[in-house]
Amino acid sequence: MYDLLLKGGTLLDPASGVQQALDVGVGGGKVQAIASNIAPSEAARVISVRGCYVTPGLIDLHTHVAAGITQNGVDPDIAGVYSGVCTVVDAGSGGSHTFSGMARYVIPQAKTRVLAMVHIGRTGLAHMPELRTREDIDVPATIAAIQAHRSNVLGVKIRLVGPGVRDMGAEAVHLAKQATTETGTRLMVHIGDPDSLVSADTTRQMLRLVQRGDIVTHFFTGNTANLLDSNGRVYPEVREALDAGVTLDAASGRMNFTFDAARRILDQGFRPHCISTDITIPGRHTLVGSLTEVMSRFLALGFSLEDVVRMTTINTAKAIGMEASLGALALGREADISVLKLVDGDFAFSDSNGATLKGQKGIMPVLTVRAGLPMPIDFGPRPNGWLPAA
Ligand SMILES: [Zn+2]
Repeated sequence: MYDLLLKGGTLLDPASGVQQALDVGVGGGKVQAIASNIAPSEAARVISVRGCYVTPGLIDLHTHVAAGITQNGVDPDIAGVYSGVCTVVDAGSGGSHTFSGMARYVIPQAKTRVLAMVHIGRTGLAHMPELRTREDIDVPATIAAIQAHRSNVLGVKIRLVGPGVRDMGAEAVHLAKQATTETGTRLMVHIGDPDSLVSADTTRQMLRLVQRGDIVTHFFTGNTANLLDSNGRVYPEVREALDAGVTLDAASGRMNFTFDAARRILDQGFRPHCISTDITIPGRHTLVGSLTEVMSRFLALGFSLEDVVRMTTINTAKAIGMEASLGALALGREADISVLKLVDGDFAFSDSNGATLKGQKGIMPVLTVRAGLPMPIDFGPRPNGWLPAA
């Protein structure tokens, strides 16, 4: 007897390449059966997911969920289970001097699985720009914070923005790498400086400092110090970083996603490994919307549904070194499942420059199952709910 049966949907699991009509039986918080035509009588509760895609629980690699700690931090469950997302990675909202607030008040109360990066700036994103001088970086305290919260912490975050990075250049990245090397964790680097303080050289030097497992986020940023030279060519260091095993993440955010940069980068043969939101309270109500909306934006850019699910499930699980437990639907695993609907329409996606891209498909979350428990979906950030703007 299963606790829950998701019946009548199309299983879409890029990790195994499966895309077919299959039911999923859940019991004891785990996936117990994946089969065609499981009888309703075999489950205590049956939810019809006819007309929907059943995918591994979505993972958002770049979020800001320090609700109540930073000004823009969104509630983790708003970014997470109420949006069809099972796991969120907080990208450095907390630094060594503030991370205990995340660990004590945010992570344990969330229904969503919350993992986090500790910011190399001591107060995280409580006060931005967070790196104003060298004094804002405390490497030993960062190492101590990672060690104290090791079960939730994936590594270190740095943003290549602001006067501190302008003055320190790649030395700031070097200091962040010290903290990851000492703790055996990974570095996530934000590129793209809206204030144009940071030089392109700092980004190029950073690309030589990152190593296998590190993550470069905002792949499609149009801001200064992005990945494109003055002729719109991708720097050769990007290819070298890719060959070295660095993950490229196309986090959106409000200020770091342009269709122009996306087109140039895609046309030169580069594709991001992961799609993420960089969601904040204001981002949720403006450019970003939700993870499923950012996925829809990628459909409009020419990616397939299977691509965008891969880039928010197994690719993201690999990016954080958790592919043994997350990112795939497999028997015996914790039942983290997203149920999504693909809707036809005339949609318009905006970017950070105010440019528009039309699309004909919108992805909508229908249900989240987190550790076997079905969770309702919120109404959604748009006037019309979850679908992108018409
Ligand atoms: Zn961010």
